Amino acid sequence: MTIQPIRLFGDPVLTTPSQPIVDFDTELRTLVADLIETMQAAPGAGLAAPQIGVPVRVFVWDVDEEIGHLVNPVLNLSSDLQEGEEGCLSFPNLQFNTPRAMRVVAKGFNMHGEEVEIEGSELLARAIQHETDHLDGIVFIDRLPRELRKQAMKEIRKSEWFMEATEKGYSPEIRFSPHKQSGKLL
Ligand code: ZN
Repeated sequence: MTIQPIRLFGDPVLTTPSQPIVDFDTELRTLVADLIETMQAAPGAGLAAPQIGVPVRVFVWDVDEEIGHLVNPVLNLSSDLQEGEEGCLSFPNLQFNTPRAMRVVAKGFNMHGEEVEIEGSELLARAIQHETDHLDGIVFIDRLPRELRKQAMKEIRKSEWFMEATEKGYSPEIRFSPHKQSGKLL
């Protein structure tokens, strides 16, 4: 297991949709172990494979002292919403009030290729939606209401990590239209 560097906003891997996992092999199990170790070292409540530069559909979480992982997720979202501060390891030191579905039922696979279903509400539901978005190349500021998203971009442009990324030649993709939810409503 290895702690991997976390890619920051501005890196194109974060705004590119990831590929489904096809082989449930040793490589996948190593990836899941690296994701968990990197998330815990950060520390964070969730981490998706593209955040360590691997564009495949798997993520991990650490919520309410339970660590989990999910491969090739498909989400069903509740129609009732929650408000709450949300952050992202790819956007250091920034948090914004981000609307999310209150509950989620996530279907997918574990790293051994067995079908699993995860039900969560509140923070776990928020984490699962946030990480699934990463697999679709969507970052949490894309989910903010328009005015707040503008304010978020201002703060991001002022941040040191973002200026460093810009010097490396990354040009972040900034979206101003709302994305459709990645799952179906319940
Ligand atoms: Zn994130």
